[in-house]
Amino acid sequence: MTIFRLSVPTVGFFILATAGFAAGPQDFLPPVRPWHGASEALIVKPDNPWITPSEKTGLTDSPNYDDTVAWLRKLCAATPLVKMTEFGRTAQGRTLYVVIASQEGAATPAALAANGKPTMLAQAGIHSGEIDGKDAGLMLLRDIAFAGKAGLLDHANLLFIPIFNADGHERSSEWNRPNQRGPVHQGWRTTAQNLNLNRDYVKADAPEMQAMIGLLRASDPALYLDLHVTDGLDYQYDITYGYEDWGGEQPSSSPRGSAWLDRYFHPAVDAALQQAGHIPGRYFDPTNDRDLTEGIYAGNSSPRFSTGYGDLRHIPTVLLENHSLKPYRQRVLGTYLFIESALRSVGEHGAELRAAIAADRTARPEKIPVNWGSGDGPETHVDFLGIAYEDYVSPASGVKEVRWLGQPKVYAGLSLKGNKPGLRLDRPKAYWVPVTKPEVIARLKLHGVQYETLAEPRTVTIDMYRLVNPKAHPGEGFHPFESRHTLTTGVQRLTRTETFSAGSVRVPTDQPLGNLAIVMLEPEANDSLLGWGFFSEILQRTEYIEGYVIAPLAEKMLADDPKLAAEFAAKLKADEKFAQDPTARLQWFYERSKFYDDRYLLYPVGIER
Ligand SMILES: [Zn+2]
Repeated sequence: MTIFRLSVPTVGFFILATAGFAAGPQDFLPPVRPWHGASEALIVKPDNPWITPSEKTGLTDSPNYDDTVAWLRKLCAATPLVKMTEFGRTAQGRTLYVVIASQEGAATPAALAANGKPTMLAQAGIHSGEIDGKDAGLMLLRDIAFAGKAGLLDHANLLFIPIFNADGHERSSEWNRPNQRGPVHQGWRTTAQNLNLNRDYVKADAPEMQAMIGLLRASDPALYLDLHVTDGLDYQYDITYGYEDWGGEQPSSSPRGSAWLDRYFHPAVDAALQQAGHIPGRYFDPTNDRDLTEGIYAGNSSPRFSTGYGDLRHIPTVLLENHSLKPYRQRVLGTYLFIESALRSVGEHGAELRAAIAADRTARPEKIPVNWGSGDGPETHVDFLGIAYEDYVSPASGVKEVRWLGQPKVYAGLSLKGNKPGLRLDRPKAYWVPVTKPEVIARLKLHGVQYETLAEPRTVTIDMYRLVNPKAHPGEGFHPFESRHTLTTGVQRLTRTETFSAGSVRVPTDQPLGNLAIVMLEPEANDSLLGWGFFSEILQRTEYIEGYVIAPLAEKMLADDPKLAAEFAAKLKADEKFAQDPTARLQWFYERSKFYDDRYLLYPVGIER
């Protein structure tokens, strides 16, 4: 059985890449700079019995699912510190594995609670082409077991997911990630259902994500690492990362957890990487990817992403984005240090971390910021460690394109803008979700939101919303996004007397996941379930009135109601198009008659203030 997929391109890529040239199928990439650092000492010698599959290729390639699982099984059999268990299944039926590392040899994520130590969960391959975390994690687990690093487990536990998007991981090719310098074989970004798991945290459509949320609930990690690789520009940084409320710049739902990351995690990780020859930096996006001098932006994100979701769950969550243009070997070594120093920080400052999480879970903020923009927040300036570039007119695109030149260049005082919330939601006392929305109730249950189920019908006077001007999410049109017809809407507040049938649920916001419930159930939040298309049925009008019936009804309304008549006259005067449109004129009366469907555009969830 060959564990490794050595091939001619593999060998060629390795030799030429370390010599400082791009080669192989991606010889169109910008020049790569030679790199050496102390972290190279982490790679074991070829005769080491615990060499990982990727190390055998010089960290240029990555093993497939079966070979990864086989290697981990062998490791588990050889050390009492490491166990592996299933936490779910993919859409195609592959087992999703989580590795459990603890000094007590706990066999399940839930069993870790018994040792009283905080747990860190590191997840590789949510985008399975971006697989650095898997090969780094295998090396670190090996070193915990056999190379003197078991002390990392003195005060912390490690949960490690080698491959989250396992179906995508097996859609492997040399042609999947054009912007990324290795490994030779890369998985695919989305699942076998073509879903992007890093847009699925709130709506949780994918079986993989449903399994992940179950694992988060069962293990309740104190720190969650989501390991990726960038696309985008060339620059000197090799290991970039980010989290919500970085530097206290935009408080979100878990400001104390973020303050812990600022105070303990960030300096420790940066120091570990710098000492070993890496260049850590903050993860950002360019304002204009054809002109870096226009600046960059970074900041909070929506809960469809791991970081935004972790913030709402009060699990400090860090997004790692390794620089795609750096060779695989350099990226894997940086990821190893990143995971190792994160675990060390959790162990050394676990008491502070747990206190921060507990305080975030107890807080009940009056306002919840949502709908984060992109670079519309406060501006600062940074000395950016970039790469020189020139412009040229591409005969292919016909416009100016960027050519990266490979030479380091500091862009002094580059503009860095933050993100700003588009809306701050009020905190009501509770929501009432009707039994007619079982998929909504199921999602609340999946996330672990607490609610009370009505045993009998209840009639309550309650606030409700009527949607105002709901429209398809800009840019979507006919094409769904993540298999859903998403929408944005305004709302008009109403007070109504409403009967909720038995089986309906009342969701109080005075609970640790109250902020998450608010974001899921307020229609104006971009990641609300309504925004994701869970309530599309209320957009349709289902009863009609014939013209020969509405005309005499309208005439009677005009005669009986002088105020309505005056309103109609004013409308005719002000709106010529309306005045010329018989259907619109009759519709105007229908909407004001008692026959009109008063549930049209009515959001069926009650809001108890
Ligand atoms: Zn990614």
